[in-house]
Amino acid sequence: MAATDGAARAGVLRTAHGDVPTPVFMPVGTKGTVKAVDPDELRALGASIVLGNTYHLHFRPGTDAVVELGGLHRFMGWDGPILTDSGGFQVFSLRDTLLACDDDGVTFRSVYDGKAARFTPESVAGAQAALGSDIAMCLDVCPPADSSGADARRAVELTTTWARRQAAAQRAPGQLLFGIAQGGVDPELRRRSVEEIVDVGFDGHALGGLSVGESRDLMLEAVADAAPLLPADRPRYFMGIGDPLGILDVIERGIDMFDCVLPTRLGRTGSALTSEGRLNLKNARHARDPRPLDDDCDCPACTRFSRAYLRHLVTQQEILGLRLLTLHNLRFLFRLTAGARAAIESGRLADFRSEALSRFTSTSEEDPCP
Ligand SMILES: [Zn+2]
Repeated sequence: MAATDGAARAGVLRTAHGDVPTPVFMPVGTKGTVKAVDPDELRALGASIVLGNTYHLHFRPGTDAVVELGGLHRFMGWDGPILTDSGGFQVFSLRDTLLACDDDGVTFRSVYDGKAARFTPESVAGAQAALGSDIAMCLDVCPPADSSGADARRAVELTTTWARRQAAAQRAPGQLLFGIAQGGVDPELRRRSVEEIVDVGFDGHALGGLSVGESRDLMLEAVADAAPLLPADRPRYFMGIGDPLGILDVIERGIDMFDCVLPTRLGRTGSALTSEGRLNLKNARHARDPRPLDDDCDCPACTRFSRAYLRHLVTQQEILGLRLLTLHNLRFLFRLTAGARAAIESGRLADFRSEALSRFTSTSEEDPCP
């Protein structure tokens, strides 16, 4: 760990395809692409690691096709670090496709063709080894936020059993494996899951099953309780957060890595993350606004174009508009995270956070949190 500030940490994650300074925001490349952004652009924006979804790549184009074409790095033209999830989150969040979950694995219907498919700890280890990602994630059971106590306990038990099996399964050369703790916002269950997963012995640890519909306060309480139980010398990954305030909140509680489709999804729906809050470019008040999205931003959208022009592109459904907003939103989060890292290094994260908060003004057109 390079530096700490309270519970917050600045460090470096070493992978087979390069070092990742942390805290780090990981853009999501669901189907082997961060939507609408090419790898050179991603690099230039400040991405140091991207995420791939095993579920989607398993069905389209199929892991065998990716292997034949040289592995995921070569296939998608990205030579930096890649983290692949296990596919478990998709299986358990698309609940109407879930067929059966037993001790051995989970059976579900593919969203692509409705055919029955099955994931086990060994099969998702094999898929991620075939993709050749730098970091593989364990198959876990992610129950809905409103699950009963019995369901939540069962999810924790299965998650531990599967984590032990996956720890013994195959990996790509140099591939790191992260365990995932469940337990929702139940303090005892979360603690038990964290302890069991840490006990297995992983290269890094993730908190799963949060940011799935529970209140923000309960979520942050769970993070604050769980983070100190995780080994200080291994990276800590909060799965699924991407709003600016949420990112600062989890960094402050000792999280090093996080991912979310928010910046790219917002971009494609015409919204921008800015230091003053979220802007909806469809709003008529931007029609004659000559200012950039964000005065401080050095992205391709802000250095050349006005809000009025971007609004014009968005309302006319021009591809360029959605692409520029995507580039801006990614750059915004990379700069925010790099700023937080620098603040941790100089011991002034609390100031950095309050400065960021004070700039979120009432002009924000949506709540800053999703
Ligand atoms: Zn920008």
